[in-house]
Amino acid sequence: MGKLAAMTLSEGAVDFIHDAHLTDLLHTARPDAARVDDILAKSRAKQALTIEETAVLLAAEDPALVERILNTARQLKRDVYGNRIVLFAPLYVGNDCVNDCAYCGFKRSNRDAVRRTLTRDELIAQVEALEQVGHKRLILVYGEHPKYDASFIADTVRTVYDVKVGHGSIRRVNINAAPQDHEGYRIVKQAGIGTYQVFQETYHHETYARLHPAGTRKADYLWRLDALSRAFEAGCDDMGIGALFGLCDWRFEVLGLVQHALHLQQRYGVGPHTISFPRLQPAAGVQTDPRHLVTDDQFKRLVAILRVSVPYTGLIMTARERPELRREVMAFGVSQIDAGSRIEIGGYTEAGDTQVMQREQFMLGDIRPLDLVMRELIQDGYVPSFCTACYRLGRTGEHFMEFAIPGFIRDFCTPNALSTLTEYLTDYASPETREAGRRLIAAELDRLPEGTIKTELASRLNRIRTSDDRDLYF
Ligand code: SAM
Ligand code: SF4
Repeated sequence: MGKLAAMTLSEGAVDFIHDAHLTDLLHTARPDAARVDDILAKSRAKQALTIEETAVLLAAEDPALVERILNTARQLKRDVYGNRIVLFAPLYVGNDCVNDCAYCGFKRSNRDAVRRTLTRDELIAQVEALEQVGHKRLILVYGEHPKYDASFIADTVRTVYDVKVGHGSIRRVNINAAPQDHEGYRIVKQAGIGTYQVFQETYHHETYARLHPAGTRKADYLWRLDALSRAFEAGCDDMGIGALFGLCDWRFEVLGLVQHALHLQQRYGVGPHTISFPRLQPAAGVQTDPRHLVTDDQFKRLVAILRVSVPYTGLIMTARERPELRREVMAFGVSQIDAGSRIEIGGYTEAGDTQVMQREQFMLGDIRPLDLVMRELIQDGYVPSFCTACYRLGRTGEHFMEFAIPGFIRDFCTPNALSTLTEYLTDYASPETREAGRRLIAAELDRLPEGTIKTELASRLNRIRTSDDRDLYF
C-alpha cells in the first residue's frame, strides 16, 4: 500500500474536539445542588450525559456534591455491572519506537532504554508463563515502529492464540498499538483480535503538539483522533479509547473522552467498548512536569464522573495504580483491571521482585501476583471473571447486548464469570484463594433464581471441578 493511501482518513473525518468550547464549558458550568441532582438522576436512569452535563459534574467542588457523584457511581456500578471484575494481563511485545513522546520511557531519544522485540519463541514463553498462572485475556502492547506493522501484529496475535499449556489458553487478545490505516485494521481483525485500543493521550491540541514533536508520526493529532473511526469502517467494532492523565487539566481530558465516545456512538451507532484513564507514572529518561499531575482524590472523581457520564462503557483501571487505591476506586464503576502484570519486555519469565526502569515503559504501582489480587477481590465481594463469551459468540458492537437486554447479566455474565472463576480455582489457585472462592461461588449460586440456567450452571461447575471439561460458556 502506497504512502498516500496509507494516510486515508475515515469518511468525512473531522476534528470534533474544540478546545475553546470545552474550556468555556468548564469555566461557565454552575454546579448548584439541584442541577447536579437532575444530572445524576438522568445517569441513574442509565442515559449517557452530554458534555455540558459532564462539565457541571466536573465543576462540582463542594464535598457534599462530590460525595453524591461518588455515590451515584457506586450505585451504577452495582446496578449496571453487578459485582464482576474482568481480569487481564498486558504483554509488551516490543519497545522500538520512532516517536518521541515526552512522557514515555520508550521514546526514541531515551538512549538508556534497553530495546528489545520478543522473538516468536520468547513470545511463546511469555504466554506459557501467563497461562500457567491462570490468565485467559491479554492485551498485547507495541511501540510504534515500521517493523510492528499490521502483519507483524497479526502474526503475534495468532502465535498467542496457538499457545496451550495444560488447561491453559488465551481466549481473547486485545491490542494497544499505533493507529493503523483501513487495510491494517482489516489485517489485525482477521487474526481475531478483541478490542483495539488507541489512547489520544491528551485531547488538548496545544499540549498534544508540545509533547509529540513535529516530524514524528504521532504528531498528527487528527490521524490519531480518527484512528478508531477507521477501525470501525474496516470492520472492527470493538474499540477502546483513553487519555493519559497528568499531561493537561484532568477535567478537560474527561470532556475529551466523553466527546469522543459520543462521536463514535453518533457516527457509527457503536460507542467505545472501553475507556482507559492511565495516570502518568515515573519513566526512565522522562522529566515529569508536575503542573497537571492528578491527585488521588481527583482520580476518584474522574473515574466516578466517567462512570456516570457513559453508563454503558467498560472502565479499565490498570496496575499503574497502587493496590490500596485500586481497591477503593474499583467501587466507583471499574469493570476491568489487569493483575499479576509485568511490563518489562520478557518480564513474565525474567523479572525479579523489583522493577528495572530502563527495561519498561514506566513504573507500575501494583506488581502483586494474580492469585493475591484474585483473593483480595473475592474477599471484597467481587466475582473475578475471565469471561470471553460475548466476543467469541459475535456479541460485539451494536450486538453487544450486555446492558440492553433485561436479565442479560443474570443469565449470561454471572454464570460465565462463575464458570471461569471455577476454572481458575480448580487449576491455578492457592489453597487460601480456593477456599475463599469456593464460599463466594456457593453464595452467588444461592442468589441465582431457580431455573434451567442455575441447574445447568451447577452441573457445569461440577464438570469443571471433576473432569477436564473447560471453556463452557452461555
Ligand atoms: N506505542 C503505541 C502508542 O503510543 O499508541 C502503543 C501504546 S503505548 C506502548 C501504551 C500507552 O502507555 C500510551 O498510549 C500511553 O498512554 C501510556 N504511557 C506512556 N508513557 C506513560 C507513562 N510515563 N506513564 C503512564 N502511562 C504511559
Ligand atoms: Fe512510542 Fe507509544 Fe511511547 Fe509514544 S507512547 S514513545 S508512540 S511507545
